[in-house]
Amino acid sequence: MSVRVRIAPSPTGMLHVGNARSAVFNWLFARHHGGTFIVRVDDTDIARSDEQYVTQMMEAMRWLGLDWDEGVGVGGPHGTYRQSERFDRYREVAEQLIADGAAYRCFCTPEELDDRRQAAQAAGRPPGYDGACRTLGSEQVNTRISAGESFLVRLAIPRPGVTEFFDLVRDDMRFDHDVIDDFVILRSDGTPTYHLASTVDDVDYEITHVARGEDLLSSTPRHILLTQAMGAEPVIYAHLPLLFGPDGKKLSKRHGDTSMDAYMKAGYLPEAMFNYMSLLGWSYDPEVTIYSPEQAIEKFDLADVSKNPAVFDTKKLEWMSGEYMRELAPHDFVARSLPFIEVNRKLSDDERRRFEVIAPLIQERVKVLPEVVEMSEWLFVDDVSFDEASWDKVMKPEAGPVLDDAIIRLEGLTEWSTEAIEGVMRQMLEDLELNPRKGFQPLRVAVTGSMISPPLFESMEVLGQPATVARLRRALARFV
Ligand code: GLU
Repeated sequence: MSVRVRIAPSPTGMLHVGNARSAVFNWLFARHHGGTFIVRVDDTDIARSDEQYVTQMMEAMRWLGLDWDEGVGVGGPHGTYRQSERFDRYREVAEQLIADGAAYRCFCTPEELDDRRQAAQAAGRPPGYDGACRTLGSEQVNTRISAGESFLVRLAIPRPGVTEFFDLVRDDMRFDHDVIDDFVILRSDGTPTYHLASTVDDVDYEITHVARGEDLLSSTPRHILLTQAMGAEPVIYAHLPLLFGPDGKKLSKRHGDTSMDAYMKAGYLPEAMFNYMSLLGWSYDPEVTIYSPEQAIEKFDLADVSKNPAVFDTKKLEWMSGEYMRELAPHDFVARSLPFIEVNRKLSDDERRRFEVIAPLIQERVKVLPEVVEMSEWLFVDDVSFDEASWDKVMKPEAGPVLDDAIIRLEGLTEWSTEAIEGVMRQMLEDLELNPRKGFQPLRVAVTGSMISPPLFESMEVLGQPATVARLRRALARFV
């Protein structure tokens, strides 16, 4: 049996990191087994679904380096892989289940259901559907349909009964049918519920394994019962641990961004994001945190996923992004930085050359790409704008004579190279009896506008002698 797995995001918002983690695990599992990875769209909620989220989800997946063999955007033998285009199929299944006696029509009105739910709660009974319409005879049903009464369709849960299954992550699971009511599969307007649409898709697309978030665990016995009612073989389930923030609470906006889109925009390297996501509930090797997708594919198994909540820590992700940053080939680093630098304006050839010279020094110091912009914008402006906090910190009264002296020495240089600049600047420190912090920080702020910048002498070299001296003069003028 060839492995067929899927992810099924609902396009009602940006792709959540939890769904992206499911995507990474399903992809790894499929690739490990030489199986098929499918991306379908759970858009039964037509009013809340939006095409832009489908596009964004595909972008985020591709950004992560994931590809899929069937599904939205790529097609396949099962049509469009969108639930919104399969309503006839879900209705057909519901009809068949009714004909088989596995499902039934329910004519209870919302008001009646509400009243009975409240009465049940007050009496300490379970609040789920009480099965009132389950025993209606076919004649009664036909009469009520002819009278135009509206109805929905419920699955007739076998009672008494239990549903047991082996979960690849959580081991043996057991649900007594006492806790599963005869849930709705088709609404009164003829639209399918999530349970019906999801199960029919899994059966029709011949899915073999469903790896999804643990939040859906309580839906699984329902899906197994539905699958059995359809006469199909249930899939193998793996419920992936929930994502928590570093404080041990369920991951939410409080912990930072939760949509993949935000991480793309924030300039994390996708290789790092992929690596980090693969660690959310799985471990390649306790000693090894950084590895390639190929290495992960080779080792990945859903059975090795941990039951324990996984911690999503943006600090760790940032660190990892920095590690990957350092591994990029210099031209690749430049290529990835340019879209962030050139948001407002394309660099001239000369500016680009200057950036390419300084880029390796920046590459050593950044974790995310917007930091490259911060560290290089001084290169592309006529007048550098001073970061006020940096200015206040280093432009103390003693800085005036330093600027003055540096201007004279640098103006006098006949060879403009990092080594030559460093030589005269170190001599200046000695002559003025200053430590490097006191002597060089004012120069750094004068030249780059900020204390956070690439190394000083290299920066001066790239900027060129006239511009460097002009900036020192400008700082001096502002200073007095
Ligand atoms: N549409 C569901 C979600 O976005 C996924 C359902 C499933 O994987 O079965 O959470």
